[in-house]
Amino acid sequence: MKKYVVPLTMLLIFETVAVTLWLTKNNLFYLFNFSYIGISISLGLFLFVRKYKHARRIVQLLVGLYMLVYLGLICNENMQIEGFWYYLFTGVFEAATIHYAVAKIFGPLIFGRGWCGFACWTAMVLDFLPYKIPSGPRKNIGWIRYITFAASIVFVAALFLCKVGNIERIMFWAFIIGNMAYYAIGIALAFLFKDNRAFCKYICPITVFLKPMSYFALTRIKCDKEKCVSCGKCERICPMDVRITDNSRKRENGTECILCMECKRACPKDAL
Ligand code: SF4
Ligand code: SF4
Ligand code: SF4
Repeated sequence: MKKYVVPLTMLLIFETVAVTLWLTKNNLFYLFNFSYIGISISLGLFLFVRKYKHARRIVQLLVGLYMLVYLGLICNENMQIEGFWYYLFTGVFEAATIHYAVAKIFGPLIFGRGWCGFACWTAMVLDFLPYKIPSGPRKNIGWIRYITFAASIVFVAALFLCKVGNIERIMFWAFIIGNMAYYAIGIALAFLFKDNRAFCKYICPITVFLKPMSYFALTRIKCDKEKCVSCGKCERICPMDVRITDNSRKRENGTECILCMECKRACPKDAL
């Protein structure tokens, strides 16, 4: 049973959030929403423990499609970063603000960038591309994320400052156009740099939240130096170029780890 502690703990965390929000906000939707996400993630972790090859991909599709199609397109909730600013500026703790608080701001203190490895609907598509292992060194263009981050705030602030009408409708279209732009840029960059996760490394504005918070994450991959034979397989296979055999929090690209577990699967000595 010991090996099922992680999936069960994750289910417990999500159920706690689900019940707390359901009761405090008096809205049954939160019970459904967070239970669904928690069950999907726990199922994926359970399958991973059982060594099922496509465990992570299943969670990505279950959660990613739910958020993109059901919440975004059917329920008209903009869960992109501009949706977060929109709800924040209106002072409403709903939809995108809750999503960001749980998955991208405070949640990473517990589960790091698990969102990026298991749930993001942008990466859900990018991970189907052929360059799972980056073919070259990282580019020095990570600063672009700060521009996209600033642009998202300026865009929403301008709507409020200019007193534009029907902002909710604009948010819906911003969600559709924003996602199409993310997919187009993400796919183009993946082919250009021969790296599926190039968008995550250089462009994604959400990493401005994710990276500093995940630095302090409770959940981290660590290397058992007693077992490790320094074969380097784990670092060669890592899609995010993390120096995973270094256990310090300051390890190279440490805040880039998306907990995809590819290194763990590749390790011949079960040292991770
Ligand atoms: S870095 Fe951004 S695009 Fe990439 S997986 Fe994380 S949230 Fe998604
Ligand atoms: S260090 Fe391991 S878990 Fe983290 S991104 Fe790299 S392969 Fe995935
Ligand atoms: S794959 Fe395993 S044994 Fe090889 S360097 Fe990584 S942790 Fe060590």
